[in-house]
Amino acid sequence: MTKRVVFAANWKMHMGPEGAGAFCDVFLKQFEARDDREVWFFPPAVTLPTVVARVKGTGILVGAQNVFWEPKGAFTGELSVPLTREAGGAAALIGHSERRHVFSESIEETGRKVRAVLDGGLAPVFCVGEQLAERESGNTIKVVVDQLGALNGLSSEDLDRTIIAYEPVWAIGTGKTATPRDASEVHTAIRAWMIQHGADDKGVRVLYGGSVKPANAEVLLAEAEIDGVLVGGASLDPESWQKIVSVEVN
Ligand code: PEP
Repeated sequence: MTKRVVFAANWKMHMGPEGAGAFCDVFLKQFEARDDREVWFFPPAVTLPTVVARVKGTGILVGAQNVFWEPKGAFTGELSVPLTREAGGAAALIGHSERRHVFSESIEETGRKVRAVLDGGLAPVFCVGEQLAERESGNTIKVVVDQLGALNGLSSEDLDRTIIAYEPVWAIGTGKTATPRDASEVHTAIRAWMIQHGADDKGVRVLYGGSVKPANAEVLLAEAEIDGVLVGGASLDPESWQKIVSVEVN
């Protein structure tokens, strides 16, 4: 199994269809698909169809930032997996720290969402990460392993389809980045958990996220344990995103 490095853009609550169109005009002019990498966009739900249409034929994949676990019904304001798929989505972020800490999403809820994403034929990108106080009290690995508990009971095939994104909460949108060594330590623990629970050791992919920028992407991706990056702020500017997706990885 050849692992392709993942470059995933999380646009959060930015970029409407018009802004995304303008972004694509600039970004796609320079973009060249490469066999050694995958590029993903996670736009807001209203922008997803625009991005799907604009990246058609480029190999770029598009996903939702969050989904509800029920496939349909009276759930005002929610987005289902089948609707995401119908709009051309191929993946969904689950358990982003803003979902956990702003919207109080529980570990149990993230587990139900991952199950729904897998059942609906999309790829989950499951986000985990500790808050600053948890890191400072030496509980990083415990917190991350607890969050991974949402994946308990998944089959080996399902785990192989699940990408993990390690995103220390204190590094998201703050300009602070985990050192490559600190990130690697957590990635190693995540990989071990995945393998212990049945994932294929050659297939496990663990992305790093938290203030990744053109200036630090290369050094982070040089770590053997880091299989890609999930990028918020620096993915909103087509030039900076272009620089990140072009980083050479050995
Ligand atoms: C994120 O939102 O997943 C993220 C990592 O944001 P930023 O790159 O802005 O820290």
